[in-house]
Amino acid sequence: QRAQWAKLVDAPSVSKDGKEFEIAANIGTPDDVADAVKQGADGVGLFRSEFLYMGSDHLPSEDEQFEAYKKAVVGMNGKPVVVRTLDIGGDKPLDYLPLPEELNPFLGYRAIRICLERPDIFKPQLRALIRASEFGPLGIMFPMIGTVAELRAAKAIYNECLTELQASHPGIGKNVQLGMMIEVPLAAINADNLAKEVDFFSIGTNDLIQYNFAADRGNDKVSYLYQPLNPAFLSLIKHVIDSAHRHGAKAAMCGEMAGDKYALPLLMGMGLDEYSMSATSILRTRSTMKDLDTAECAKLVDKAINECATDEEVKALVEKELG
Ligand code: PEP
Ligand code: MG
Repeated sequence: QRAQWAKLVDAPSVSKDGKEFEIAANIGTPDDVADAVKQGADGVGLFRSEFLYMGSDHLPSEDEQFEAYKKAVVGMNGKPVVVRTLDIGGDKPLDYLPLPEELNPFLGYRAIRICLERPDIFKPQLRALIRASEFGPLGIMFPMIGTVAELRAAKAIYNECLTELQASHPGIGKNVQLGMMIEVPLAAINADNLAKEVDFFSIGTNDLIQYNFAADRGNDKVSYLYQPLNPAFLSLIKHVIDSAHRHGAKAAMCGEMAGDKYALPLLMGMGLDEYSMSATSILRTRSTMKDLDTAECAKLVDKAINECATDEEVKALVEKELG
């Protein structure tokens, strides 16, 4: 089977009926790009930038960050790279960035909530990213956005950086795509208003499930509540994708669900544009994708959302479809 998959390295990510999608890689360092390319990734859908901060004893400078982002962009050779801005918080402490102890770090001061208050941290990252976009297609996405006001505040700081850089480099950053993660329940519900203000969404199902089911993603005792196929959750995902498309934004997914075999036909039926996953899952997914018909997948979505009541029922439905 692996040999069959290997033939798909240079093949497009396309359904049986010829609809094109993108299957991208999640990476943690610029060195991971080589493997993403080897596995035939159509791009990088999530570059977690935390490594730059966690693997260091000081706040990484603009130039250090620029080199890392540039390396990833150049390595992808014209295929798009989406970098997520710093997603750090109480559960992932940094020695040089003292943060208050919190009872509920997952509900606390983290990610964009820190960056909006600390332009001294946020701006060097954004400037480094804008500079790296001169070397190939680049997307920037903001994590943990919950409200339109937060998105606008992040964009305002981004635009400040852009204006500053354009003073000395006219036209720089013209090709940057701006997006946000959908991982806070209110953002998913309010996707219509948010979609008007971004080029793309990337659905972070790891956190979106954790917050929707009120179940800590790292706690085994509640892991039965990790239910990407729950019909109510599926209808929320569909709402996010439909909202993006209503406003001309692209819909991507970069949580674990994007590489889930059972979720694939459902997400294709909803018209999800990009599937970002660990590089090792790309070829398997591309192989399954080419045997699925999007019109059939859309019918499956309808049944899953309207006729199923539990994730088990959805799984049985999809199993039958996959044969
Ligand atoms: C997510 O929340 O689904 C996600 C992709 O981000 P992380 O796993 O880094 O929180
Ligand atoms: Mg997340």
